[in-house]
Amino acid sequence: WRAAGSVPELTIAEIEAAHKHGIEISKAQRIASRGLVDAIGKTPLIRLNKLSEETGCEILGKAEFQNPGGSVKDRAALYVVENAERLGQLRPGGTVVEGTAGNTGIGLAHVCRSLGYRLVIYMPNTQSQGKVDLLRLLGAEVYPVPAVPFENPENYNHQAKRHAERLENAVWTNQFDNIANRQAHIETTGPEIWAQTDGKLDAFTCGTGTGGTLAGVTRYLKEKSEGRVKCYLADPPGSVLHSYITSGGKLTERTGSSITEGIGQGRVTDNLQPDIHLVDGALHISDEKTIEMVYRCLDEEGLYLGASSCLNVVAAKEVAEKLGRGNTVVTILCDGAYRYADRLFSRKWLGEKKLLGAIPKNLERYIVL
Ligand code: PMP
Repeated sequence: WRAAGSVPELTIAEIEAAHKHGIEISKAQRIASRGLVDAIGKTPLIRLNKLSEETGCEILGKAEFQNPGGSVKDRAALYVVENAERLGQLRPGGTVVEGTAGNTGIGLAHVCRSLGYRLVIYMPNTQSQGKVDLLRLLGAEVYPVPAVPFENPENYNHQAKRHAERLENAVWTNQFDNIANRQAHIETTGPEIWAQTDGKLDAFTCGTGTGGTLAGVTRYLKEKSEGRVKCYLADPPGSVLHSYITSGGKLTERTGSSITEGIGQGRVTDNLQPDIHLVDGALHISDEKTIEMVYRCLDEEGLYLGASSCLNVVAAKEVAEKLGRGNTVVTILCDGAYRYADRLFSRKWLGEKKLLGAIPKNLERYIVL
């Protein structure tokens, strides 16, 4: 028997290994005594063999698709909930409310079931029935509401906030501007990458939705390496952050769009403030390059990845080429292709998006839907 929340001690060997790598022993690195939530993180770092050979660099991807909810967002989900517990905003039997149509909802659903909280999700009613069904079967209460812009008080984010305000013992987790999200990556993703590479990495790159991953990992790696590790934003079309960084801080109107779900941003979120200024540069990655990499990762590495992961891999390759042979570049493999297969591997969808031409001839056999 163990009191709730207590964790077993580590073995001497585990402590020595942790010390050797200079990592703090957090709860997440101990035995999963609290159940599923302790299985979040500690993901492998996978060498992308073909791209490493091609560039003469080590290109490594953090396998975030191995988290229980299948994405990098499990880490943020756990941290925003634990932060609310610590602040006394959430007590046993409480309710978590969020506005999301994507991986954060799935991460929160697992975390809330595991810790015993109710979960309420607001999302625009333009989202697929599949997403609604999945969240409901994971135990969430889902409210699809009219898809109106952020400025409109009926926007799903504002409705989520008001729902939480109406309830006792409830919290709106507010993933975009809640910096507990970034903290997850300062305390877990960053230290894991450092330990797994023995600190011998030269660069890090990834895309941004809330900005939690980019800001948190960048903050940790910059601090730990005393500024040596170079960090780059990878941005899809339709996001304003690339031009924000390359213009030295000017925000432009959002124009264009991308097939890449979960990333691309129209503003500098609180999670990105002020750490976005720590990045060394930004790369703009086209949908053509991203979709080609979806097929290449599958064929060359056996990796079945979503588009944001593959945009990150393209960025890692371009950073490697820029830095030259012998460098080690790390990126994030955010999630798998499972939830996007009906689009990414569909001839009709690729045709509609004018992306059929981006698939190399020898990889067309993967277009099976
Ligand atoms: N990829 C996918 C598939 C995502 O769902 C998200 C989260 N929106 C991201 C990348 C970006 O992560 P972050 O919110 O930490 O910027």
